[in-house]
Amino acid sequence: MRISTILSGDRVRLSCEVFPPKKFDGIAHACETAKEIAALKPAYMSVTYGAAGSTPGHTLAVAKAVAEAGVTPLCHLTCVQSTKAHVRQVLADMKAAGMENVLALRGDLPREGGRCTDFTYAAELIDFIHAQGDFCVGAACYPEGHPESGSRLQDMEYLKRKVDTGVDFLTTQMFFDNAILYNFLYRALKKGIDVPVCAGIMPICDPKQVARAVQLSGSIMPPRFAAIADRFAHDPAAMAQAGIAYATEQIIDLVANGVTHIHLYTMNKPWITRAIVENLSSIIHMGE
Ligand code: FAD
Repeated sequence: MRISTILSGDRVRLSCEVFPPKKFDGIAHACETAKEIAALKPAYMSVTYGAAGSTPGHTLAVAKAVAEAGVTPLCHLTCVQSTKAHVRQVLADMKAAGMENVLALRGDLPREGGRCTDFTYAAELIDFIHAQGDFCVGAACYPEGHPESGSRLQDMEYLKRKVDTGVDFLTTQMFFDNAILYNFLYRALKKGIDVPVCAGIMPICDPKQVARAVQLSGSIMPPRFAAIADRFAHDPAAMAQAGIAYATEQIIDLVANGVTHIHLYTMNKPWITRAIVENLSSIIHMGE
């Protein structure tokens, strides 16, 4: 099913993200993990694309496992270090495997620098995908602004241009303060961006994740969460419980304020995903 169809209407939806393994011998385990999460009946499941396009076959293998488990898959695809010939082949493989949904991303720029190949921005990839076939295309957005962008105003300008190239839905970078999302949604609507926006929630259950999440996403860590991380950093069970509670509360607040699409960054942890789904069992009805 197309994600745009899943996201139409006002019903509250929860979708999940999983990542493929870096190495080929991890595929079976990643597929099992994906199937465990799929058993919770999320609205759809996205499968990330290896940094620098390193593992396209692994993304597809895990996406196929998601489909076999009866959940709609969404394949991520990055372009910054790819050629058009390579992307064309990846899309052909997706099509042959029955994939209808693609999250089109630029990918992070190589740390060592160097020039981009055939694509500079995600918008060019989106154009290219539409020329290759009838895909439902999503894209990324950044409530706090993309870390490379000069200002949130400029970032919003480029986001509008990206959406106008043919984006069916957006998924946000993780954020830990809902006020930042509400502000972003207001600014996006004012700019005329009216596609569904899936709010990305990352449950932080491991103290090591805190610094990494902030570094990767450029997200602000609100004092309330920083206090939790400080207090429970040395007690893994307490940190996990607090992280699950924090993410649950974030989602309840989002739903209470009219957000209908939640995307959970599961970090391939079925037990964390299950705990959150159970906490929300009367608020989000999975599988309906
Ligand atoms: P773009 O939309 O191209 O934007 C990148 C930067 O360029 C922004 O600062 C933007 O403001 C600016 N910009 C855009 N257009 C123009 C223009 N015309 N002129 C000048 N500046 C412009 N990475 C992976 O490697 N694999 C994944 O699977 C993956 N999944 C992700 C999923 C989500 C939901 C998110 C939020 C991120 C994901 N990422 C993934 C990370 C992503 O690849 C990086 O954040 C990357 O740096 C930007 O990708 P983008 O598609 O948002 O880029």
